[in-house]
Amino acid sequence: MIAQAVIMAGGLGSRLGDRTKAMPKGFLEIGGMPIVEQSVRKLIAAGIEEIIIGTGYHKEFYEDLAKKYTCIKLAHNAAYADAGSMRTLAACVPLVKEDCLVLESDLLYDSIGLNVLINETRRNVILSSGKTGSGDEVYLQVDNDCNLVKHSKKKEELESVYSELVGITKLSRKTLDLMVAYMDDHRQDIPMMEYEVAMSAVSSSGNPIAVRKVEYYTWCEIDDENHLRRAVEQIFPRIAENESLRGIRREVLLNPGPATTTDSVKYAQVQADICPRENEFGDVMGWISKELSLMVGAPGRVETVLFGGSGTAGDEAMISSCVPQDGKLLIVDNGAYGKRMAKMASIYKINYETFASDGIHRMDVEALKSRLLDGKFTHLAIVYHETTTGILNPVPEVCRFCHEHNIVTIVDAVSAFAAIPIDMDRDCIDFMSSTSNKNIQGMAGLAFVFCRKEALESIKDYPMRNYYLNIYDQHHYFIKNNQMRFTPPVQTAYALRQAIIETKIETIEGRYERYTACWKVLIKAIKELGLEMPVPESEQSHLIVTIMDPRSPKYSFNDMHDLSREHGYTIYPGKLSDAPTFRIANIGDIRPEEMEGFTKILAQYMRSIQ
Ligand code: PLP
Ligand code: MG
Ligand code: MG
Repeated sequence: MIAQAVIMAGGLGSRLGDRTKAMPKGFLEIGGMPIVEQSVRKLIAAGIEEIIIGTGYHKEFYEDLAKKYTCIKLAHNAAYADAGSMRTLAACVPLVKEDCLVLESDLLYDSIGLNVLINETRRNVILSSGKTGSGDEVYLQVDNDCNLVKHSKKKEELESVYSELVGITKLSRKTLDLMVAYMDDHRQDIPMMEYEVAMSAVSSSGNPIAVRKVEYYTWCEIDDENHLRRAVEQIFPRIAENESLRGIRREVLLNPGPATTTDSVKYAQVQADICPRENEFGDVMGWISKELSLMVGAPGRVETVLFGGSGTAGDEAMISSCVPQDGKLLIVDNGAYGKRMAKMASIYKINYETFASDGIHRMDVEALKSRLLDGKFTHLAIVYHETTTGILNPVPEVCRFCHEHNIVTIVDAVSAFAAIPIDMDRDCIDFMSSTSNKNIQGMAGLAFVFCRKEALESIKDYPMRNYYLNIYDQHHYFIKNNQMRFTPPVQTAYALRQAIIETKIETIEGRYERYTACWKVLIKAIKELGLEMPVPESEQSHLIVTIMDPRSPKYSFNDMHDLSREHGYTIYPGKLSDAPTFRIANIGDIRPEEMEGFTKILAQYMRSIQ
């Protein structure tokens, strides 16, 4: 897995005159966005977890960019004015862990080039193209095995020209170290060293760097006014078209999960075949667990146990694994998912009772507290966000109370996690379930159970009521073997990895803001259309809204569904047993403008049944 990229961005960009007087070249805007930011986005979409930017000239621009994209780390080359790009690269190398992509900051390129390098089996590979005629080309000469021998801007200095350097390369940490050593050895005779010089030297002295040629690759660099004109008039439009052709038909899912995903999450599923018992895949799963844990607790506080399965598997794992033989469980039932946990408890013959609430009004927390104490319960199970109606339960308040009274808390956060900010220590949650396909915006197929460290240890010797879903066994096996006990959904895991990368950049708080913005658009329209919402606004999660069916005799959910679907929106029926309702969810990779679009369809449907 290529997890890191380095962007060399120290240079002055002096050939662009006034344009780069007060900013680095990377901040030239084309198509409304700085070119280096376009590059950052393409790297993220290609599955890069961390981008190291080597800064120099006007580094404050990059400091601001790093605030916007939390995956950016900065390394400064103080000698940027007198040393070449190799010095900037050298400043970044200590941060490089394994193999990484190395890019120039003044490039416009088709994102497919990143995939070409990522898919290469060779570890050190230079991306190159056929003739561009762009001016300032760096020509490459290769040996019989297509390894770099020499580069030059002057064709006559080469025995033959194979291709042109693009400025995107995959290099191992070992090769980077050799390049740095070469630079250090030549500080006197080559004080201004470009990184190509070090690559050629390393490659031709027994550490070959391959040259991969993509004859018609769409790319350009921007060093001067001619380059800029060519970039704006020819290259940018071609890249935009190429990339749009790889876009996947957009469907806006307004059902409560699986939620709409980004194209980059969809594409992340397309990976080389791998046996999930390989360490390389174990490392992917380990990374996923660690990153998920960090979303709900401080480092080292939470363990995330993964299972192949849907969200229900996470719930069943908790109900069957977390209650000892002599435990007594109270399950809050204010919707379908509380009921489902009660069903599980009954199947496993756990000593349990339910605390019922209607799912429309805020539950009576004081009554719940008395019941917990009066009934001498040892465990409580509660749904964080009851997706049945879209009501947000007062989980932190209830769980804090439980904590004070030594009651273990089991929380179904299937539809809350990754939208509602949660800290399991702060909120006193011992066990919590969720799934890959809701607010985290991945694909269906993985369930996870978050466990507070001590809570996980405490269930070690509890009876195994089933085999597949036992939390402790699953955790223990993974820690010992860097493998899942049973075959995991490999492609779903890769999609989840990408979804985590994207969630970290948006942040959970940012995601909740976006979801809330969509929800506001929705409820404004609902009110304007005179539709009723049984759950009061103040109790709503901002993630899903239950709406009473329109009173018109012409109303048909199926007709409304079909009209919406024709326009690219999928909606979902209600789940209340005693009232006719439908539900609109606003989770997933959706934008307020899209919700606006849906409300227009809803209004059109409402007019048609007047
Ligand atoms: N719990 C809650 C709160 C849910 O919203 C859902 C699904 O919507 C589930 C559990 C079950 O998840 P799955 O359908 O993935 O098994
Ligand atoms: Mg150049
Ligand atoms: Mg350049």
